[in-house]
Parts: sequence; structure tokens; C-alpha cells
Amino acid sequence: MKDASPQTIYLKDYTPYGFVVEAVHLTFTLDPDATRVKSRIAFAPNPDATDRTFFLHGEDLTLLSARIDGAEVTPSLTEAGLTCDVPDGPFTWEAEVEIAPDANTALEGLYMSDGMYCTQCEAEGFRKITYYPDRPDVMGVFTVRIEGDLPVLLSNGNPQQAGEGWAEWHDPWPKPAYLFALVAGDLVAHSDQFTTASGRDVALNLWVRPGDEGKCAFGMQALKKSMRWDEEVYGREYDLDVFNIVAVDDFNMGAMENKGLNIFNSAAVLASPETSTDANFERIEAIIAHEYFHNWTGNRITCRDWFQLCLKEGLTVFRDSEFTADMRSAPVKRISDVIDLRARQFPEDQGPLSHPVRPESFQEINNFYTATIYEKGAEVIGMLKRLVGDEAYAKALALYFDRHDGQACTIEDWLAVFADVTGRDLAQFKRWYSQAGTPRLSVNEEWDAEAGRYTLSFHQHTPPTPGQPDKAPQVLPIAVGLLNANGDEVVETTLLEMTEAEQSFTFEGLTGRPVPSILRGFSAPVVLDRDPGPEERAFLLAHDTDPFNRWEAGRQLARESLLAQITKGAAPDAAYLDGIATLVRDDTLDPAFRALMLGTPTQSEMAQVLHERGTVPDPDAIHAAAEALAEAKALRLAPIFDALAMACHVEGAYAPDAEQSGKRALGSAVLSLQTRRDGGVTARAQFESADNMTLQLAALTCLVRAGQDAEALAAFEEQWRHDRLVMDKWFAMQIAATAPDNALPRAEALTAHPAFDMKNPNRFRAVLGAFAMNHAGFHRADGKGYDFVADWLVKLDAKNPQTTARMCAPFQTWRRYDAGRQEKMRAALQRIADTPSLSRDTTEMVSRMLQ
Ligand code: ZN
Repeated sequence: MKDASPQTIYLKDYTPYGFVVEAVHLTFTLDPDATRVKSRIAFAPNPDATDRTFFLHGEDLTLLSARIDGAEVTPSLTEAGLTCDVPDGPFTWEAEVEIAPDANTALEGLYMSDGMYCTQCEAEGFRKITYYPDRPDVMGVFTVRIEGDLPVLLSNGNPQQAGEGWAEWHDPWPKPAYLFALVAGDLVAHSDQFTTASGRDVALNLWVRPGDEGKCAFGMQALKKSMRWDEEVYGREYDLDVFNIVAVDDFNMGAMENKGLNIFNSAAVLASPETSTDANFERIEAIIAHEYFHNWTGNRITCRDWFQLCLKEGLTVFRDSEFTADMRSAPVKRISDVIDLRARQFPEDQGPLSHPVRPESFQEINNFYTATIYEKGAEVIGMLKRLVGDEAYAKALALYFDRHDGQACTIEDWLAVFADVTGRDLAQFKRWYSQAGTPRLSVNEEWDAEAGRYTLSFHQHTPPTPGQPDKAPQVLPIAVGLLNANGDEVVETTLLEMTEAEQSFTFEGLTGRPVPSILRGFSAPVVLDRDPGPEERAFLLAHDTDPFNRWEAGRQLARESLLAQITKGAAPDAAYLDGIATLVRDDTLDPAFRALMLGTPTQSEMAQVLHERGTVPDPDAIHAAAEALAEAKALRLAPIFDALAMACHVEGAYAPDAEQSGKRALGSAVLSLQTRRDGGVTARAQFESADNMTLQLAALTCLVRAGQDAEALAAFEEQWRHDRLVMDKWFAMQIAATAPDNALPRAEALTAHPAFDMKNPNRFRAVLGAFAMNHAGFHRADGKGYDFVADWLVKLDAKNPQTTARMCAPFQTWRRYDAGRQEKMRAALQRIADTPSLSRDTTEMVSRMLQ
């Protein structure tokens, strides 16, 4: 299987491949146990390369024959591929291999999902399909013939001839092998059409299993909106005659941007009001956009090597965030993104898995599809845009597309277009790509009443991360506004550009001491260490004109309340409760924003905050404090429940748009408080009358939290047992939302449920991932939560290394906790590490955590 001592690959060792690929012809003869793949590849020497070793990647392949220019050859096979003597000039390589898609449980390469053939080639899956230079800087034009006894046979590009049991495809755009895709199955299409700005007609198809036709309309609309948006905002048009999307049930990730043939986890594309929540709809819209946007940022311009992954992912996440902000509410999107960044990226950046946005080494690239590469990568682009301004950003992007179309690029290429357009020296900014860790920013204020001068002095410091003990100052764009005592803005949002470790900025001509609103819009991904005290926070909560910072003020009040409850046994903070109560009934504010204001930090976020402040987090104490705060909030808001419920009333038919979703989000936040007061009466009524999944699941969640869930869970299962995606919610929610004591017994019982299938990544995550999200349940003092997860990870690793490795993440914070828990988590990790023939993926993850 995998090599015992995994190799480390370094960015500094990059060399170009010795050959270029001029054309690729592939013929697939499909069979679940013995698929034949014939390849014919035209190679020519690469004038830019010095090393002419002919090496093709290949893993788990049976080589049946190989020819060069028609003559049989006998290559030397290695564990990772093959080498062969080749002519000095151009030559044609032909090979035939056999593979077994039905035995492929790793879901990488060609595999089967319930009778359907499907591929996943990013990052290094193509080498499990045939021998090939499987690296992103080798781009070729692919022609594909598929032979198989199935009604639908799809590959990249445009359809060519087809007949009974066969089809041919040709993709005119040169692409790296990781963008190759093939799908074959008994599928039906939801079809539509799009005319591009320049008048090209594109046939759009969303391919699903018979029975899922009713879940396609929303995804199709999202696709059309994305296509239009990319034309209008980035001037990017689609470039083939067809755009196909396929939904597949077994998929390791969310979705994949294969050229002209996007493949989606069915959870990331199928939607209907009865079976999907508002949050599902929003996520689907964003993922469709993300994969579509990759057509230009990823496919037309790709990555030179996998160290440059953020070149396509950071940029494409940034673009899909802009899209969602335009389609829905920009402030709500920004706040949600920051919540997500703090929940997923900050722990990564501040723990043993910390790595730069552009890593310099890896063992298994699949382990680097991380929140740092994606979400911090997007934050870095957001900072760049703020620094250069909208106009220069647009010019730089136009230059990027113009200069690099058809190329495999680097972060240096990306930054060069900004330097060329603006004349800026971006050498220091580039540290965002090489330096890991979350910078901490602290602030001092000085007010000179006589001179009317106000000075903000900042200090930045990035703590050490693995392999990087000393950090240099970063370029920090700090957006600041100043308010007067009445809450009027006396200095509008101003961008301070901090480049030194310590730096001061002065505002002149003020008539009174201002209240600063710092880091508006979360203008840099840092931890702001500043304690202005509860009064100033309450003031900003009431008056800040920047919606992000207004939300942040409330969040900080909640955080401080919880901290005081945990560390000092204090009662929930009245200033916080008063501020929230005022704000939440303000009907001039967007309900979605008010729903976010009602939210409180998660328990793992509190563990992170305690840790940042040098206190060892106690999961049980955090849970108790969160409960007490919610109880206090419920008591405080009880008099206005009815008024709030009125404000959340939705007229007319269900629509998953921003307006209705916002009202339902606020309604669900209120319902969860109300359930604490009425023992579940309102929730039960809503559960029974709900005609959409958002209301039904919200009600069920409240009942689970209240421990009143036996009947409702049974009824829900009875109603939805035929629907895999809804059942994933049923599995996940009852574990994530139950009381900590009950989480482990429940999760254990559900792994014995007949519908639990460890081979399906969505179902595995629904149980094990949800359990790890039950913070105090996972962190039981007896360590049984850790053992349970570790046992299942060991079992899954033998089948699906990629998903196993990703699901090790809950252990990354192990050093935060008390000695007893640390020892139990460490032992669980060690047990995983000691498993015989553990995959390279999981080996890398656990060894980094144990280091
Ligand atoms: Zn992506």
C-alpha cells in the first residue's frame, strides 16, 4: 500500500517537467471490477526544462501494454509510477491499464457511487486512472471516448459523436489532469440555456438520479446568476458549448470545478423547500458560484504546483464571497464569514497544524485543502483590494487574465500584476503568504483636549508557529472610524496602513474625545487585543455605523460576560442583555442582522478565547455558562417574544431569498429562547405545522435541546427515511444539540443504526463530525469521547484516508486543555498514529499534532 516513511515535498525543489503534452486521447471501457483505460499522448521535449527524465505518475494501476511510436516498450515500474527511455524529439506514448472502480472506497480517481461511475482527480487522483505526468503545470488538450452500457456518458468539454453505449468528448482548452472528469450512469438532466454577453449559446444541464429532478431548479438559477455576475463584475465569459453539473452522493468534499463538468456532493447542489434549510440554499448558491468562478480562476489560469493552491482557492473564495454579498446582504455575509474564520481558521493558525497561506512543504497535498488556504487566502485578497482600492483591483485583475490566460502560475505572478498596475512595492505584503499565525494587535489611545488631537498607537505581534519562531511585522490595513459622544460619526471610515511593529496615527481638529471604531469590516484577519470596557462596547453596540463593528461590540459583550461567569462566577452581564434587547426589537434593522446579534460565541470559541487569555478552558464550565446566559436572555426577552414573532412573519409562498431567510433566522433564534420558557409548547406546534425544512428542523433542534425529542425524532425519521440528505440532518442535529452527557451514548447508538454507512462521507461526518461539535460531550472528562472518535477514524482510514485525515481536526486543540484531558487526547492520537499501515494522509496529520 502506502510507503512507510512518507516523503516531504518542498516548494524550493520545483523544476519544470521535461516534456510538454501536445494532445491526449483516452478511451475508457467501463466495468466495475475491470475498467480498461487506453491512453495516447503526444509528448515533445520542453524547451524550458533541463531534466529530460521521462517519469509518469501511476498508482494502483495494472499496466497491460505500453508503446512508444507504435513499438512495444517495457518501462520500469516504481511504487509511484514508471520511467522509460524515450526518443530525443517528439513521440507518442500509448498505454493500456486496468483499474477497479468498484473497489475504490477512497473516492479518488475513478470510483463508483451506487451504480454510477464518477471521478475525482484533484489533487493527485488522475494517476489512479492512467500513467500520466500528474502535475498542474503540465497542460494538454483532451479527447475522450467512453464505452459503457449506461444511458449517460459525460466528460469535459464539448460533446462530439455518440451512439448506443459510447460517447466522445473534446475539450479544446488545455488543462492539467486534475481537471479531468468522467461520469457515467443512469441520470436525468434538468436543462436550461444561457446566452453569454457576446452571444454564445450555452446548454446547461444539472444531472441527477431519477427521483431527484425536483431538487434542481434552485441550483440551476444559482448557476445562471453566477454566469451573469462573472460577466458583469469581472468581465469573464463562459467558453464552451455546454456546462454540465453532476450530483453524486459519495464525495469527499463539497464540489469540484472540472472543466465543463463540475461534480458536486449532492448535499452541495440538491435543494427543495421541503428538504433543505435556508442555510442549505445559501450554501448551495455559494458553492455553485465558487465552482463556476473557477472556470477562470483555476482552470483558464491554473496553479504551477500545489504550493500555489491559494492562487486559485483564496481568489475564488474571495470572488464567491463578493457574489453572495451582492446577491444577499453584504454586512450579514461579512459577519458570517468572520464567524466561520474564527471557528475554523483561527484554531488552525494558532495550533500545531498552522501553516502559511502558501505552504513551503507537505507530505500529502490533500491535507492542505484547509481554512488557511481557502479562507485566510481570501482574507489576504480582501486586504490587498482594500489597500489598492477598487479601481486598481479591477485593473490588476484585468491584467492578470490578460497576461496569464492559459498558464500555470505562482503567487509571484499574482502579486506582480498588482505591483505593475499600482507601482507599489508588495515585498512586505507578501509576508501574508509566507508567514503563518494570527497577528495580535493591541492599541493605545491618547487624547489631547487642548489641541483637539487624538492618537491611536498600535502594536502588532505574531506568536511563533511550528517551524517559524520569529515573525516580522505584517502590512495591516486597519479601517477606523471615530464617533462623538452622541454617536455621530466625526471621522468616516479611514484606512490606516500599518507596516511597523509599532505605529501611531493622529487625527486632528476634533472638538471632543472620540470613541473609536477599530478594525471596521474586520479589515485584517487579526486578534484585536483591546478592552475598552463594557460602557464603550454598549455604546458601539447602540451607535456604531459600521454594521460589522456593531455586531462585534455585541459579540464582545457576550464573550466578556461568559468569561466573567466562567472565571469569577459572575452573573450574566446586564449591559449585554439590555443592549441586545434594545437592538433586537429595532424594526429598522434587517432581521438577518438581528438574528446574528442574538447569537452567542460557540463553546469552542470560548475555549479558544480562554486559552488566548492564558486560562485553561473547562468544557463543563463553558457549557454551564452558555446555558446560564441563554436562560438569562430568554428571561430578559420573554416580554417581547410575541412582538418578535410578529416581526418574523413571512407573507406568501416559501422562498429561500435573503429577506425571508433573515426573518426565519430571527424566528428560530427567538424560538430557541422561547423553548426555555414554555417547555417546548411553541416548538412542538411549529414542528407539527411546518411546511418547509427550515421551520421543521429549527423546531426539532429546540426540542432536542430541551430534551423533549423522543416523539419528534421518531416522527421525523418516519417522514424522511427515504431521503439521504434529510437523514444526514437527522443524524447530525440530534447529536450536536443534545446535552453533553447524552452526546456519546447517542452517537454510539447511531453508529449502530441500520442507515449508518461509514463509507458515505456525508453520513460519517453527520455522526462523528456532529459529535465533535458537541464541545462538552466530545471533551468528557473520562476521555471516552476521544476514544470513540479515534476508534472510528482508525476504521475509516483503511477505506477513505482523505476524509479520515480531515476529521482529525477536532484533536488539534489538545494542548489547550487540562492535564487530564491532554493526556487522554494525546493517547488517542498516539493510538491512531500507531495503527499498522495507517495512510500517508492521516499519518501526516497526527504526527504534526503530536510534534
Ligand atoms: Zn475551490
